[in-house]
This record gives sequence, structure tokens and C-alpha cells, in this order.
Amino acid sequence: MLASNRLEIGLCIYQCLPKASEEKTMIQQITDKIYKIEIPIPFPLKTMNVYFIDDSPRTLIDAGIKTEASFETLKKGLETIGYGLNSIERILITHGHIDHYGQAKRLFSLSGAPIYIHPKEYGKIRSVIHSLGFLKSILLRNGAPEALVNEAIQYIESAQSMADPLEEAFFLNDGDTVSFKLMTWKTILCPGHSPGLICFHWPEKKILFTGDHLLKEITPNPVLNVPEYKSPFRYPSLKDYLTSLEKIERLDISLLLPGHGEEIDDVKGLIQKIFAHHKERMDRVLFSLSKKEKTPYEIAMDLFPGVPPFEIFLGISEAVGHLEILKEKGIVRLKEKEGKDYYSLET
Ligand SMILES: [Zn+2]
Ligand SMILES: [Zn+2]
Repeated sequence: MLASNRLEIGLCIYQCLPKASEEKTMIQQITDKIYKIEIPIPFPLKTMNVYFIDDSPRTLIDAGIKTEASFETLKKGLETIGYGLNSIERILITHGHIDHYGQAKRLFSLSGAPIYIHPKEYGKIRSVIHSLGFLKSILLRNGAPEALVNEAIQYIESAQSMADPLEEAFFLNDGDTVSFKLMTWKTILCPGHSPGLICFHWPEKKILFTGDHLLKEITPNPVLNVPEYKSPFRYPSLKDYLTSLEKIERLDISLLLPGHGEEIDDVKGLIQKIFAHHKERMDRVLFSLSKKEKTPYEIAMDLFPGVPPFEIFLGISEAVGHLEILKEKGIVRLKEKEGKDYYSLET
């Protein structure tokens, strides 16, 4: 079941303060070529999945976060199937969140494996610090109290110790081929959770590696990003996310291999649940606006009462995603007052 009255966790870096993780090796063989290694992360989702593809070149999908527990788990996982970290020959990164790319540089230094990512994620893996000022202005503009914003920014800054910035990466674009000796995949751009999130499709086996685009029982957040659009404060992340879902719905896929949690075989069922979930949330946004105009922060508080300070960024992302769609449909209007965005129902 997709929870509807709590803040689902998709982005893994803006969650809560890091805690010590248990060190454990969890490896699972999915097909004769694909292994899943469950890597501990110090966030509520507890683990993320690195996939090891035992073909030529030997490839990792995502790298894990930069902690000793993550490093040791990956090392042990590969040893279980007879490889060392130096046998990795290629690293594909689904998106630029620290739990997915954090230790890529360390793996590169041990193996020399080239790292691939979509160009829209490159800015994030190179340095997140440059975007913190912009993030702060987004939060303030959306009505978050200054003390809370400062706390959130401080946390995001401190979380960066769990990722090494990557200067060198190769780019993968929508439709690009990922070739192995015995198979060929296709790169599928699925913006929404992150603007340059890429999934990998293996058509012969009807398998899709989803990163955080599709997760079992968790709705990934369409997270606000530093916009690339003309208007500096418009964020079409939810609209993009839903369009990306339709894109996946049209493909012939029977197994999803996500960036967190278990694999998913009821692909159409999951996609329908997510559409229904966002429709229900859209109704709750409208209800929140039924009596008076509100900032996205106030709406987020209505949607997710009692949300901890570090999740407020996700709450605002969720509210703004819905508000942008409602505004485009002419259902709500946006007014700026004293540097803050207020939304109200069109009369
Ligand atoms: Zn993510
Ligand atoms: Zn993630």
C-alpha cells in the first residue's frame, strides 16, 4: 500500500541526522548476470541497492554512499561472487543523490572504472555547495521560517561529507545504448524525482533498473531542483514525474529493479497506484486552500502535520509540485507578496 498521509521518502539526503549503520552483507542473485547488493545508509530508508552486472564490462549500477559500512558491504558483496573492487570496469549512476553516487570516486580510484551519469545531474555530483544559496532562497520564498531553513541548509551541508564530488564523468543521454558483450540496454531519461534521473532498460528480459523513479511501497518525491527554466522560480518536477511514469507505462516491462527495497513485478499495478495517490493528494491540496490563500510551506504543514524539520524541504517540494499543475490548469493562482509565494483558488 502506498501511504497517503505521510511524507514519502524518495530523496535520501534530506532526511534526518545520520545514525550509525549496521554492517551487513546482503547479496541476492536476480538473474544469471545481475546481483543486488544491499548497502546500509544512515537514513530512514536504511538501505539502497547497488546492482553488479557480471558481463563485460563488469558494471555497477549506482555506487552507494561514502561511509565505511557502505564500502565494506560492497566489498564483501563482490567477494561473495568472486570479485574484488578493482574488478569493476564501469559505473553507471542513476541520479546525483549522495546515497547513489557518494562513494563512486573511491571506487574509481581503486578500479579506474569510468563513471557515467546524465548531464543534468553533473552539477550535483560535481559540487552541491554551489546550489545551497539557491536552495535557501527557494525555501524562504515558499514561506518556510528562516530558523528552519537555516537548520535544513546546515544539515544538507553536513551530509556532504558522505559523498566525494566527482570531477570526471561521461554522459549518458536519453536513448543512448549501454553495451555489454552479451546484452544491450537502453538509457531512459525519467525526470521528476531528479531532473536527469536515468533508468536502464534491458528489453530482451523486460527488466528496468529504476533508480528512485519507481520504488515498491514508497512514492518517490518529485524534488525541487535549481531550475533550468527561464522563470527562476517555477518547478515542474511533479508534472515531469507523471510524464516519466507514462513513458515507463508504455514499455514492455515485467520486472523493476529499484534503487531501494525489493524488486517489483506488478509494474502496471504500481504505476496506477502512484497516479491514484497523486490524484488524492491533489484533492488534499485543494482542500487546504479552500478557506484562504497559503504559502507552499503552510500547505505542506496541512499535508504532513508534525513533519520533522529536515523533511520540510520534501514537504514543500510535494506541495509546489501539485500547485504548479493546478496553476497550469487555471485552478489556482499565484501571487507574490513581500518576496513570498501565496496560492489561492481561482474564483
Ligand atoms: Zn534519490
Ligand atoms: Zn535514493
